[in-house]
Amino acid sequence: MKTYQGSCHCGEIQFEIDSELKSALKCDCSLCRKKNALMVGVHESQFRLISGADSLATYQWNMKIAKHHFCKICGIYTFHRRRSKPDEYGVNFFCLDNADIEPDQLQTERVHGSKLSVAD
Ligand SMILES: [Zn+2]
Repeated sequence: MKTYQGSCHCGEIQFEIDSELKSALKCDCSLCRKKNALMVGVHESQFRLISGADSLATYQWNMKIAKHHFCKICGIYTFHRRRSKPDEYGVNFFCLDNADIEPDQLQTERVHGSKLSVAD
């Protein structure tokens, strides 16, 4: 397991994850499609927010279980609390500053967020 540093565009938000960085999640829900999100799933014990807690904004929609965090200064989606696995974070692969693998080398796991239940 390696440690990868992540940040938003303006640098306010800094975090670290411990990961093998072998696979990534691609979700087809309406939010992930619009973000074009490619995410790395990590257990909360493998995630550390280093700085920027005050600049972190949270977007919730539909069932309001997942917490989608983004930087309120530069607007970049950094990571979110997953709905299907609440003890995990989904981390924006493109926010990792020292990723040593290209996105097309990652094994892509499809998540069918669009098939999850929706709020009335
Ligand atoms: Zn920022």
